[in-house]
Amino acid sequence: MESGTDADDLRAPQGANTVAFAALFALSSAFLFAAYCMARALAGGFGGDAGTIATCVASAAAASIFLWWLVPFADFAEIFWVHLPADRRAREGQCPHCGYPHESRATCTECGRTTEPLAAWTLTARPVRRLARILVAALFVGCIAGEAWCRLDESRFADEHAAVRAPYSRARAFPASFARMSADERGVFTSEAWPDFRRERGWQPADPAQRKRGWGWRDRAE
Ligand SMILES: [Zn+2]
Repeated sequence: MESGTDADDLRAPQGANTVAFAALFALSSAFLFAAYCMARALAGGFGGDAGTIATCVASAAAASIFLWWLVPFADFAEIFWVHLPADRRAREGQCPHCGYPHESRATCTECGRTTEPLAAWTLTARPVRRLARILVAALFVGCIAGEAWCRLDESRFADEHAAVRAPYSRARAFPASFARMSADERGVFTSEAWPDFRRERGWQPADPAQRKRGWGWRDRAE
């Protein structure tokens, strides 16, 4: 910190950046994995063909919009290792770059740089670029892991069905347990989200007031 240009001085330690990026990548991958698995269950059907996989990748990519609030965290290392120490030094009458007491001089006698307080952190293109790169990698990993997870679950289901040799049904694995996989006696595999809440089109409420309000839904009677 005692020598070097301003650009070097404003750089956070590489290790801190690595930890911040790794945390963002892990969080984003987990989110996109869950998004992919849910899209796969919502798309319905058993076993992902190319069209289903493309739809689910597009859905996960669209869901990544919910991760953009993480943008300031891509600059976590700069905020904690550059801006906060500089603010603390400025408050204590020290040079924001090297920490030497500047005694109200405009130029630091220790490092020769200006003793002006460092500009506050603002949202720039840098953290946006960083997060975009992290999200592309996380989308790739999340979708591959999601498809592998769904396929593993489906092949386990097929094994379970082969063992019982009868019509068989169970929920998909977490995080898509709102969908059910079914196999009939002919060995036709299907999967559907929320099958217990399918609409019965013929049914209408007995109460005319409810009918007027458009209530025409109820649990499928089974
Ligand atoms: Zn200095």
